[in-house]
Amino acid sequence: MEIVIIGAGVIGLATAWRAAAGGAAVTLVDPAPASGASSVAAGMLTPVSELTYGEEPLLRLGLASRDRYGAFVAELEELTGLGTGHRTDGILEVAFDADDLTYLDDLRRFQDELGIPAEALTGRECRRLEPMLAPGVRGGLLAPEDGSIDPRRLAPALLAACERLGVRLVRRRAAGILVERDAAAGVRLDDGTPVRADKVLLAAGPWSDGLEGLPPGTVPPVRPVKGQVIRLRTAVPFIQRSTRGLVRGSSVYLVPRADGEIVVGATQEELGFDTRVTAGGLWELLRDARELLPGITELEFTEVSAGLRPGSPDNAPMMGPTALPGLLLGTGHFRNGILLTPVSADILAAMLLDGPVPDVARPFSPDRFSSEVH
Ligand code: FAD
Repeated sequence: MEIVIIGAGVIGLATAWRAAAGGAAVTLVDPAPASGASSVAAGMLTPVSELTYGEEPLLRLGLASRDRYGAFVAELEELTGLGTGHRTDGILEVAFDADDLTYLDDLRRFQDELGIPAEALTGRECRRLEPMLAPGVRGGLLAPEDGSIDPRRLAPALLAACERLGVRLVRRRAAGILVERDAAAGVRLDDGTPVRADKVLLAAGPWSDGLEGLPPGTVPPVRPVKGQVIRLRTAVPFIQRSTRGLVRGSSVYLVPRADGEIVVGATQEELGFDTRVTAGGLWELLRDARELLPGITELEFTEVSAGLRPGSPDNAPMMGPTALPGLLLGTGHFRNGILLTPVSADILAAMLLDGPVPDVARPFSPDRFSSEVH
């Protein structure tokens, strides 16, 4: 089985690794592997803290992925000898004022209904866990099984795993899909070279709708959703675990790494393919982060960056076959692509290899948008 995967973000990379482990000959096409959202993301693994009404199938997918993370990372680190910064020390979500607390109370009731463990904490209990929190923090929720990973270590480890298993990496842009006898037969690179394959996986993030030759009914409804993040550094421990906050209805999070880096994110902006960092975006993040953790102003500033989440009409990924035989989609992971990497790789590799597909994949077939796919 020859497979070509367009896009070497975390989704394309992890799927290439799993498909190669399953015996396929895999070619990955990307002019700049891991240069998309995967290089900017904070890496929270939080199906529970991000729980939103009406997104229960996505929650189940997120839980399935979080539960696979330990084994996934252990296998990856063993194969490559590279670390990924995977942490399982929970995520604390705190409320700044009374309205924020009302929102968290509602969220906890919803979590209770779904049987998901999350611990309600008073303001004092939150500060006992994270002493740097502002005295005014009203209360919070601890999701003890959530965690984080460093996407800037995960992606290189996945790339190394692909190399170990003989995945061919073509550092060029895919310009179009090759179509022969009404089926996908490979891709055409931007210099005109064809790369032939039995199956093609389109995993190019928010750029997935831009390839030539996609027949009507197969262009995925993806759009870029900009996010800006700030990276800070501390020489002394500042927070113990990923901490999210609602500050007068506005959301901010801080994700610590073992080496002292703290990622502060993230804005959510519908501005097309704009990746400029703006004064307003940074001000918003720092303003809210300082309300929660006043000591943040003492930390060293190291970087600011912006990335594009691959958004879909219902915030959930599109994974599976399209109307063009041989062409599959693996995109639309929006704000959860790092969390969803292990389960997406298992699902997409099973689909590419004609193996048994996990049930949890069923709600994410691209054909749910058949009226919007153009
Ligand atoms: P990408 O990582 O965008 O990769 C797409 C790849 O396709 C790129 O390498 C690009 O070069 C390549 N490409 C594009 N066009 C072509 C072409 N024509 N030919 C060949 N290759 C092409 N998720 C979480 O789970 N937790 C988080 O805490 C989190 N935080 C985030 C914070 C921010 C600010 C942002 C922006 C995202 C965050 N995300 C988070 C979301 C996550 O980063 C994405 O869902 C995930 O990276 C999507 O991965 P991907 O492989 O689909 O796309």
